[in-house]
Amino acid sequence: MTRSVLVTGGNRGLGLAIARAFAAEGDAVAVTHRGGGAPPGLLGVKCDVTDPDQIARAFQEVRQEQGPVEVLVSNAGITRDALLLRMREEMFAEVIDTNLTGAYRVAKAAVNDMIRMRRGRMIFISSVTGLKGVAGQANYAASKAGLIGLARSLARELAPRGVTANVVAPGLLDTDMTSDLSDGYKERILAEVPLGRTATLDEVAGAAVWLASPSAAAVTGQVITVDGGGSLGH
Ligand code: NDP
Repeated sequence: MTRSVLVTGGNRGLGLAIARAFAAEGDAVAVTHRGGGAPPGLLGVKCDVTDPDQIARAFQEVRQEQGPVEVLVSNAGITRDALLLRMREEMFAEVIDTNLTGAYRVAKAAVNDMIRMRRGRMIFISSVTGLKGVAGQANYAASKAGLIGLARSLARELAPRGVTANVVAPGLLDTDMTSDLSDGYKERILAEVPLGRTATLDEVAGAAVWLASPSAAAVTGQVITVDGGGSLGH
C-alpha cells in the first residue's frame, strides 16, 4: 500500500537517502527544503522547521498532494560546535530550536491525522553524540538526547492510538555536516568502532524504513543505533 511519507531535511544528505529508500518501497514521499527545491521524484515542500506557519503550510500541501502524513521522519538538523567557554547562548538556542523544538513542531503537526487514521510512524533522527556526549558539541548532544525523551514520551502517549515513535541514532556519516572534520579526527573515531567503519547513508535509511514497516509494528520508544558498534554499551 502506498503511504504518505514526509522527511524533513530530505532535500540532501541523510534525509535524501531516507526519502529515496521510502520511494523505492513504492511510497509517496515529500521532503522539506528551505528554498533550494527537491530532487526529481520527490514532492518538495518549502519549510523551515523553526517556523510553525511554514510547517502548517507544508503539512497542508502534503495532505493535498499525497494524503495525510502516515510516516514522519524528523531528520532536519544543524551543528554549531564550540567548547562551552566559547559557546554563545544563540549557538545553543539555535541548535535546540532546529533539532529538538523543530522535531516537536513537526510531530505536533502530524499527530492529529495519525490519531484520526489510527496509524502512524514517527521516526526521529538523533545521533550517538546524544548518547556518548562529544567535547565541543554540548548544544548538539543536548538536542539529540532530548529527542530520545521526546520519542519515548510520545511512544507512551500515542501507543493507544496506533502510532509508534522511535529514534535512529547514527554514528559518523559522510555528508556535508561532517565535511569540515579533519581526517585525523575521523580516524580517531573509527579506531573505537568495533566494525572498523561507520554506517553508509543507505544503511541508516534501512533502519528508518524498517521502523515504518509492518514487521516493526510492535517496536516503539526504542533507540536504534546504526554506527558500526561505536556506541555499544551506551
Ligand atoms: P546535512 O547538513 O547534510 O543536511 C541537513 C539537512 O537539514 C538539510 O536538508 C537542511 O536543509 C536541513 N535543515 C537544517 N536546518 C533546517 C531548518 N531550520 N528547517 C528545515 N530544514 C533544515 O546533514 P546530515 O544529512 O548529515 O544530517 C541529517 C540528520 O542526521 C541531522 O539531524 C543530523 O544531526 C543527523 N546525524 C548526522 C550525522 C553525520 O555524521 N552527518 C551523524 C548522526 C546524526 P537545507 O538544505 O535547506 O540547509
